[in-house]
Amino acid sequence: MTNPNAVVSDTQSAIAMAITAAVNYSPSVPTSPCNITLFSRNKFPITKIIETAPGMGKNIAWVDAMRASSPTRRSSSEDNEDNKVWIMKHPSALGMFEEIMNAAKTKQVVIFLDYDGTLSPIVQNPDQAYMDPEMRKAVKNVAKYFPTAIVSGRRRAKVYNFVKLPELYYAGSHGMDIKGPSSRKHQEGSKNVVCQPAKEFLPMMSEVYKILMEKTNNIAGANVENNKFCLSVHYRCVEEQSWSELADRVKSVLKDYPKLKLTQGRMVLEIRPTIKWDKGNAIEFLMESLGYATSDDVLPIYIGDDRTDEDAFRVLRKRGQGFGILVSKLPKETSAIYTLQEPLEVMHFLQRLVASKRPIPQSHQQV
Ligand SMILES: [Mg+2]
Repeated sequence: MTNPNAVVSDTQSAIAMAITAAVNYSPSVPTSPCNITLFSRNKFPITKIIETAPGMGKNIAWVDAMRASSPTRRSSSEDNEDNKVWIMKHPSALGMFEEIMNAAKTKQVVIFLDYDGTLSPIVQNPDQAYMDPEMRKAVKNVAKYFPTAIVSGRRRAKVYNFVKLPELYYAGSHGMDIKGPSSRKHQEGSKNVVCQPAKEFLPMMSEVYKILMEKTNNIAGANVENNKFCLSVHYRCVEEQSWSELADRVKSVLKDYPKLKLTQGRMVLEIRPTIKWDKGNAIEFLMESLGYATSDDVLPIYIGDDRTDEDAFRVLRKRGQGFGILVSKLPKETSAIYTLQEPLEVMHFLQRLVASKRPIPQSHQQV
């Protein structure tokens, strides 16, 4: 029998165990599962459902999923082969730029951007995930031509403080807190764009935030971030041998809050209301606010690096409109069509979008 608190030091063994745990597990109650992508050395990618409801045990799956949430050690020739196969399936959005522009002809492009790992580098301290000024300039220029929204797991006010561009739409807390720009340049009508579908959860979220702070304060490196409609427990700076204990404590808190669920992002455990509302719902809401709910003349482009961005990629696939672009250097199972390797490539992509809208200077025009 698997010891639910076991911590395996060898990464490959741990991943194999995670797969076993996930395969053997079949939930007996309706839950809100999240897709966890795990990589084996020989077969990638392997996606299994891991239980997200609190108090269900299977801690080994959680710990191994935590370990697999930020894979960084792939360098063998086998991995290179995986990379080649993956990049053929999900080509670079920079390499396919002309094709993307052809699809955008006569259509209104709408840009959706995740923040962490997409516009800013992933850093040890989430409070210091600053945006490069050049990236800010690229986003600002993009917003001159296309409606542009930031869709982040962060608290809306926090992500605004990083980006500092009032002309954008902001969807914080994984889309549960949406606000449009005051200028409404691209928006039809005059009504303010505001959406908080989980508003009644706010007192509960504040209460749970305090409890989580108390429960985790003696786990070195654990950092609880209050993202208003989402509480994020970062474990990037926690020693790996303490991950099991941290997951246990977070789950123990949630036992008393059945209306909240536990999901996972990149090196972060996240507590969210159980309502069906994610980044996918957020972009549907924003498309409707912009007047493109049923329009064929629109081309949404969503760029993100996280598991939670997959909800948005799936919405675009379902609509049969636009492109999801995953930011990743490593193969991952994704519903995105294209890829970019890192925030620097995101910036280059945005700069090319802007350049495509600018008139060609007379000196460069052919006569
Ligand atoms: Mg991200």
